Amino acid sequence: MKVGKNKAVGIDYTLYLDDGSIADTTQDSEPLYFLFGYDNIIPGLEKALEGLSVGDKKTVEVEPEDAYGDINPDGFQEIPKTVFPEDAEIELGMPFALMDEDNNYIPATIYEIEENHVLVDLNHPLAGEKLRFEVEVVDIKEASEEELAHGHIHGPDGHHH
Ligand code: ZN
Repeated sequence: MKVGKNKAVGIDYTLYLDDGSIADTTQDSEPLYFLFGYDNIIPGLEKALEGLSVGDKKTVEVEPEDAYGDINPDGFQEIPKTVFPEDAEIELGMPFALMDEDNNYIPATIYEIEENHVLVDLNHPLAGEKLRFEVEVVDIKEASEEELAHGHIHGPDGHHH
């Protein structure tokens, strides 16, 4: 069986940034399982995995436009310090979440701290980054009807409802 549309695929990977640092790895955890062909992982990585078999290893380099996009200058927003609890320690680079009108959490990091407000960065932390994945395919299964209908995989390795 080969990696392709409608397959549930398990991969082990380590993600390196351009400076050689490791941003993410499955080394000490379970493999990442995803349903192929449903935009569940970044497009540049998914495309590079197509046609591989279990046991295949690959180095995949992904430009920002095929990963988390370029840094959007409009993705910075000033918010008053009063939105933070009074005893909160506000630090540069600190990740936190803003809530939008629909009560969805938007991940953000603190980019600048002024006297009465902070400038937050709503860009994805990996926006603008060129990524390198060292990846190994460890499992390929047919996805179930239900998984295909939902567009993601279920069960112990996948999406939980
Ligand atoms: Zn589901």
